[in-house]
Amino acid sequence: MSEKKTHAVTLIPGDGIGPEVTDAVVRILEATGVKFAWERYSAGADAFEKYEEYIPKELYESIERTKLALKGPVTTPIGGGFTSINVTLRKKFELYVNFRPIRNLPGLETRYPGVDLIIVRENTEGEYVGLEHEVVPGVMTSLKVITEKGSTRIAKWAFEYARKHGRRKVHAIHKANIMKLSDGMFLKCARKIAESYPDITYGEHIIDNTCMQLVTNPYQYDTLLLPNLYGDIVSDLCAAFVGGLGLVPGANIGDDAAIFEAVHGSAPDIAGKDIANPTALLQSAILMLRHIDENDAADNVQAALEHVYIEKKALTRDVYGTAGTKAFADAVVAALDSAKPAAR
Ligand code: ATP
Repeated sequence: MSEKKTHAVTLIPGDGIGPEVTDAVVRILEATGVKFAWERYSAGADAFEKYEEYIPKELYESIERTKLALKGPVTTPIGGGFTSINVTLRKKFELYVNFRPIRNLPGLETRYPGVDLIIVRENTEGEYVGLEHEVVPGVMTSLKVITEKGSTRIAKWAFEYARKHGRRKVHAIHKANIMKLSDGMFLKCARKIAESYPDITYGEHIIDNTCMQLVTNPYQYDTLLLPNLYGDIVSDLCAAFVGGLGLVPGANIGDDAAIFEAVHGSAPDIAGKDIANPTALLQSAILMLRHIDENDAADNVQAALEHVYIEKKALTRDVYGTAGTKAFADAVVAALDSAKPAAR
């Protein structure tokens, strides 16, 4: 661990449950002894009130400087309003990888024990390019953009990850039987990249069948490589295997910058009540610690988190506990190695 280094991190607490889970996670990270210089910015509707911009230019400049952000969820208006902040940031910084590991936490009983899935979702193309058009009143079109460059780089990332982390299989997920050109391109690129990785088994499944296969037997998969929209949907589906949206971490990674954020959204139904589970953002923060080579701290937080789940005394109510967000964070801090009297 590079103990003396201070890591500059852009911090976007977000809205809804964002500020609560972000506070909890920052408190835990600070307790590891790693030094952070947080550059805190709002985004979305909150930012608009202050800066008259949904993403203030200071926020862009901060990420350009730090190349690193920890982000809480920001509400995206449905069926109108401003463009998703997540989508905008991913495009702006070319964060073409959306990485979502799906694993059970020890001590937490779920319908599917022992799940170990890696979701690699293309993060900048597909239906999320936001090219929608009213052709005539009553007729809308939405362009789905799949490029050779975008498909090749995400496939390469998935296979590289698989090789580096001893994964056995990569499945490309598609609907190329219907979307022959767009999903066809995604598949063609995945096949080509797969040829350079003979050590990794390559498979292809159609998205609808994949959903059924996942629910029937998630253990048959290892690493899933998906275009943007399918990846978004399948991530929520897979989150349910391991206990729900409150748990699953995510990372948006590009060649130059990375933003770490939970899979879940701003959950306005439970905001401001001290009941949200910060585990998803905390696990995203663990990914961030590994990304900046603070592996000892990452192991420390992971062990503390697992300890709290095994003990079951301070779990939030989405995982059948009764503790609040703050009490959960207190328990994780208390379980950190540095917080134990013996380790002082
Ligand atoms: P988005 O489209 O913005 O990604 P979503 O459709 O994934 O959002 P969320 O806002 O993530 O929806 O939440 C769906 C539901 O899951 C919430 O209403 C809430 O009940 C539950 N949930 C999400 N995150 C958490 C959390 N961290 N802790 C507890 N419950 C959560």
